[in-house]
Amino acid sequence: MSDNKYGFDTLAIHAGAQPDPATGARATPIYQTTSYVFDDAQHAADLFALRAFGNIYTRIMNPTTSVLEEKVATLEGGTAAVATSCGHAAQLLVFHALMQPGDEFVAVRQLYGGSINQFNHSFKSFGWNVAWADAENTDSIAAAITDRTKAIFIESIANPGGRVTDIEAVAAIAEKAGVPLIVDNTLATPYLCRPFDYGADIVTHSLTKFMAGHGNSMGGALVEAGKFDWAKGGKYPMLSEPNASYNGMVMYETFGNIALAITCRVLGLRDLGPAISPTNSFNILTGMETLSLRMERHCENALKVAEFLDGHEAVEYVNYAGLKSSPHYDLHQKYCPRGAGAVFTFGLKGGFEAGVKFVSQVQLLSHLANVGDTRSLVIHPASTTHSQLTADELKKAGAGPELVRLSIGIETADDIIADIKQALEK
Ligand SMILES: *Cc1c(COP(=O)(O)O)cnc(C)c1O
Repeated sequence: MSDNKYGFDTLAIHAGAQPDPATGARATPIYQTTSYVFDDAQHAADLFALRAFGNIYTRIMNPTTSVLEEKVATLEGGTAAVATSCGHAAQLLVFHALMQPGDEFVAVRQLYGGSINQFNHSFKSFGWNVAWADAENTDSIAAAITDRTKAIFIESIANPGGRVTDIEAVAAIAEKAGVPLIVDNTLATPYLCRPFDYGADIVTHSLTKFMAGHGNSMGGALVEAGKFDWAKGGKYPMLSEPNASYNGMVMYETFGNIALAITCRVLGLRDLGPAISPTNSFNILTGMETLSLRMERHCENALKVAEFLDGHEAVEYVNYAGLKSSPHYDLHQKYCPRGAGAVFTFGLKGGFEAGVKFVSQVQLLSHLANVGDTRSLVIHPASTTHSQLTADELKKAGAGPELVRLSIGIETADDIIADIKQALEK
C-alpha cells in the first residue's frame, strides 16, 4: 500500500499497513518481542551479512516499527525511513552517518532549544562543529559554508518562533555546496509541508509531537529523499567507503537510494542503540491515522487564538505566520498553505514577570514542556526550555524574556480563548 495514487488522508491510514499475515488482525499488532527465530543457519548468516532483509533483533528493526517507518516515508514522499526512540535520536543518527571528527555543519539559530543544546554541546564532544546562521538571511547560510561543511540543518516551521523557512532558497545553497539539506519537519508534519517537494534531502521528525498527537509516546524518525549522490567528492566515507564491520560492504553501492536509511539502521541503531519501543510505534501509528483531521483543527483553532491575542491590550506582539500582518505570511502561503501550524509565540507587555504569571494563571491550558498534543499547552521559554541559553542566544533563537509559547490543541476554540482571556486579565 505504498501506492501514491491514493490521497494523503488515505495513505495516513493505510500506508505500510496490511492485515497481519499470521492472524488476519486488521489493526497493526504490537510485536512486543526482542528477537526473531531464524529459518536455518544459512538464513541467520544472510541476515547478519545484510545479504537478506529481515528481523534479527528489535534494536535494529521490528515489524510494528516497520509499518510506522513505511507510513512516515510514504507521507513525506521519501524512499525510506528509520524510526528512533525520539526526535533527538533521529538527529544523532543522521549526523553520525554524515560527520567525521573535525567536520562542520551549518544550522540556523531559529531552532527548538533542545536542538541548539545538542548541537552546541553534545555534538561538539564528538568533534562535530556547528556553524550558526540566520534563517531570515539566507546569505548568512551560504557565508557559513566551508570545505569541511557536511550538511545544512533547518526547521520548516521553527519552534518556538512560529516562523516559516524559505526551504527552496536554502536547498539551492545546499545543492551548490554539494551537501544535503536536512529539514526538521516536526511542527509542520507532512500534512502541512513536504520538504522533499522543495529540494530537501533528509527530513527528521520528533514523532512525539503532532505526528503521534496525543502526548503519550516518545518517538522520532529520519526520512531520506533518495536523490543525493553520496559518492561525489568522497565527503561521506561511512556511505561511500568499504565498511569494516560488514566485510567491506560499500553502503551507497549496495543500497543506492536507501543507503542513508540503511546506514542509520545497521550502523547507527546497531551501535548507538536509540531504538523505539514497539508499543510506542503502535501508539504513534494510531495517532497518525487522524493526522489530517487533527492538523486541520489545530490550525483552525490556532488562527482564532492568534487573532484574539493580536487584538488584546496586554499583548505586545503575536508571531503567527497565519496572520496577514506576519512577515512570514507569504512563506506560509507558499510552503504550508493549509495552515501555519499550531505552535506560535506572543509577547506580553509586562515582560519576564508577566510571562511567569500568565503560565501560573491558566486553567484549561497545561503548563508543560511539550507541543503537538490534543490538549492546549503553554510554556514560558525563557524560564524553562531556553533557560540554558545566554541572553544573546535567547534573542537570536527568537525567545525573549516577555515571550510565551502556545501549542493550540483541538478543544473547543471558545474554551481555549476564554481561558487565555481570564489569565491575561489576572
Ligand atoms: C521536540 C522536538 C525535537 C526533539 O524531539 P524529542 O522527541 O523530544 O527528542 C526536535 N525538533 C523539534 C522541532 C521539536 O519540537
